[in-house]
Amino acid sequence: MEKFILDEERLKSVEDNYKAIKSRIEESAVKAGRNPDDVRLMAVTKTVESVYINRALDLGADLIGENRVQEYLSKKDELHLHGVEKHLIGHLQTNKVKQIVGEVDMIESVDSVKLAKEISRVSAMKGITTDILVEVNVGKEESKSGIYIENLEELLIEISQMSNIKINGLMTIPPICDNEIEVGKYFAAMYQSFIDIKEKKLDNVNMDILSMGMSGDFESAVANGSNIVRVGSAIFGARKYF
Ligand SMILES: *Cc1c(COP(=O)(O)O)cnc(C)c1O
Repeated sequence: MEKFILDEERLKSVEDNYKAIKSRIEESAVKAGRNPDDVRLMAVTKTVESVYINRALDLGADLIGENRVQEYLSKKDELHLHGVEKHLIGHLQTNKVKQIVGEVDMIESVDSVKLAKEISRVSAMKGITTDILVEVNVGKEESKSGIYIENLEELLIEISQMSNIKINGLMTIPPICDNEIEVGKYFAAMYQSFIDIKEKKLDNVNMDILSMGMSGDFESAVANGSNIVRVGSAIFGARKYF
């Protein structure tokens, strides 16, 4: 294993970045005529060492997102997680469900009946209910997971009939766009289906959370109704993959 060397400058920049992102979220909410308290900041912690994550947590971050089951499980004991909500945001394989159910407060990346069934089954076995979001592939990209908007309602209805699993809303990662106007179209389309489904008042389908917006586009997401923005590199710096 490589020896870990603490980067003091990076530690300081996490603090500056975190505060700056918080105020940019507030500003964009106000600009959009929204209550800033309605938009939560998720610190996305994939590939980030615990000491930097803890700096954000100590500054008041109360929601973190991890992509990989194994990575989260190996870091969690080092994290200052008291009172912090943990979400899984990365693609989840059915064979990993057993390990993560009960370990996080929400799984944001549910995009198939098969995965939902396994979450339902494992949750029942553990005697708990697992909160989820359904991930939407708003740009219909082959490379991305998520359900297409036209198949969303059908998936929601199927999942809503399963036990021990609770739908809370939607999550998306839009295509990479050149500018705010382009990406804003995807966010607006997501917001529209979020509202459409909410208005249908489907049984056991709660539409409270719309998780969208990352480091490069969270302001546009806030302008388009997001209530969780998932920000990684703009807080912790560029990711190093090992
Ligand atoms: C990595 C990741 C993010 C954060 O990305 P940044 O561009 O670093 O802010 C958000 N959501 C998901 C699902 C991710 O995998």
